[in-house]
Amino acid sequence: MTAPKISSYTESINPVTGELIDKTPIHSLNDLESIIKKAKDAQNEWKNNSVKYRAKKLLKIRDYIVDNADRIALTISKDNGKSITDALAAEVLAVAMAVNYYSKNASNFLKDEKLKNGNFFLINKRSKIMRVPYGVIGIISPWNYPFSIPFSEIIMGLITGNAVVMKGASETLVVSKEIDKAIASAELPQGLFNLVNMAGSVAGAAFLNSGIDKIFFTGSVEIGKYLMEKAAKTLTPISLELGGNDPMIVCEDADPYRAAVGAIWGGFQNAGQSCAGIERIYVHEKIYDKFLSILKIEVKKLRIGYGSDFNNDIGCMTTKKQIEIVNAHIKDAVEKGATIFAQSEIQNSSKNFLPATVITDVNHQMLLMKEETFGPVVGVMKYRTNDEAITFANDSQYGLSASVWSKNKNRAEKIARQINAGAIMINDHLMSHGLAETPWGGFKYSGIGRTHGKYGLYDKTQPKVIVHDWLSFTKKNLWWHPYSKQVYEGLKSIIIILYKKNFAYKISAVGKLIKIIPRMFQKK
Ligand code: NAP
Repeated sequence: MTAPKISSYTESINPVTGELIDKTPIHSLNDLESIIKKAKDAQNEWKNNSVKYRAKKLLKIRDYIVDNADRIALTISKDNGKSITDALAAEVLAVAMAVNYYSKNASNFLKDEKLKNGNFFLINKRSKIMRVPYGVIGIISPWNYPFSIPFSEIIMGLITGNAVVMKGASETLVVSKEIDKAIASAELPQGLFNLVNMAGSVAGAAFLNSGIDKIFFTGSVEIGKYLMEKAAKTLTPISLELGGNDPMIVCEDADPYRAAVGAIWGGFQNAGQSCAGIERIYVHEKIYDKFLSILKIEVKKLRIGYGSDFNNDIGCMTTKKQIEIVNAHIKDAVEKGATIFAQSEIQNSSKNFLPATVITDVNHQMLLMKEETFGPVVGVMKYRTNDEAITFANDSQYGLSASVWSKNKNRAEKIARQINAGAIMINDHLMSHGLAETPWGGFKYSGIGRTHGKYGLYDKTQPKVIVHDWLSFTKKNLWWHPYSKQVYEGLKSIIIILYKKNFAYKISAVGKLIKIIPRMFQKK
């Protein structure tokens, strides 16, 4: 991490025990400006290396992560409060896979693309698309997956030839420092990757005013909108990965056990603090009672705890603000007639644990079903027809991801195609964020742009076209000056030859075209 001017510190607190675990100096605006300036210099060199060279360097990071997996998982658990298995599976393992995937595939995805000629009359034009980096990209990320969310963005940014300035969430700075250490293992040029620490309230404007070339923001809709408005002033491109309120549809022929335990994992994993966690469950009336009875039994079995104990299923809430939102949504639902159907027990006395909660008798007037709750709570509703389930699922301002559960692949896919969201999983939920090859991003308020896979690499680069002319030995093209009636008629004849249905017209047009061809070889 670049040595900042020390004006004050951000304190990192273990969300379970309340103990102070770290202090990190805060960067000033001047620090940021000079970091971005140096990053631009470093990027100017880095972009000239081949993708293969960059990939080879970055692959060392995978090996570092493999060697340090246990320590990193424990650090994530202590800083964010999630269970150590959540930390390992959804963060450490996901990152190792992502680094490996991009290192092995980026060169193929980013190679120049030769375009097929689009029209016979322009056959002399041969075009290719190349992908060029933006320059210095800014990555701003949240606390809920403090390791895996920014890490993939960073690797995609660096492998495409950008320099990166990353600002992680203030709540999980210790994890951001783990990222810094892991990136350092690749021995990249000085100034190419930079971790900065500044409060979110100043970071967005500071990034934009310091000449950042593109922003990749993951976080709330509110801040996403704010940043987009600010970015308009400098026309800085911005990619937004925002909130969700994911639906799960359980069809009448679903395996009720798999659906129920899948709902528990998708809804309560990471204490429900997942952008694409299950928040709304719609169950066909024929399977509703069976599904709920299994859900109740399995919810009761959940063990809530923290730290190095492998027998914890669910960790704690990371922020007090989030606890307040969750409690407010439960209160609102109960006041409007909902029932707390099932709840897990909490063995630990820390106030930051919340029980996994299943709520029934819910409707779309309740905050729980309308807004993003972002906690270990799911609302369950009954449906009668597929159309009704699809209408329920689409009745949201969000469209991040969704799932359909059925033993019939065709039926599930038919429903999936009608849900307005960026990723639909069949008989699973959420985990496609961990598939490095699948693009990730939302419809509606859930965001703009795509990260991960080939599309993620495309989002980190601009397409640039080079057009060759095979007839450049001629003096001029047909459509160049000077103009005349003959040139006009000759050019018009191309439309007729190509698209007029009447054959006689085509024949007469060929004559007009032939008349203007000699001008290609004449100097006047
Ligand atoms: P947040 O308040 O928007 O914060 C996210 C990040 O933005 C943090 O690093 C924060 O810094 C920073 N920030 C805050 N104000 C800013 C500003 N004015 N300009 C620039 N940056 C600013 O969101 P959150 O509560 O931490 O995260 C939860 C939200 O993220 C949920 O809505 C969740 O669904 C969404 N999310 C989406 C995805 C996805 O892939 N679509 C993934 C994960 C989370 P500080 O920490 O210093 O305030």
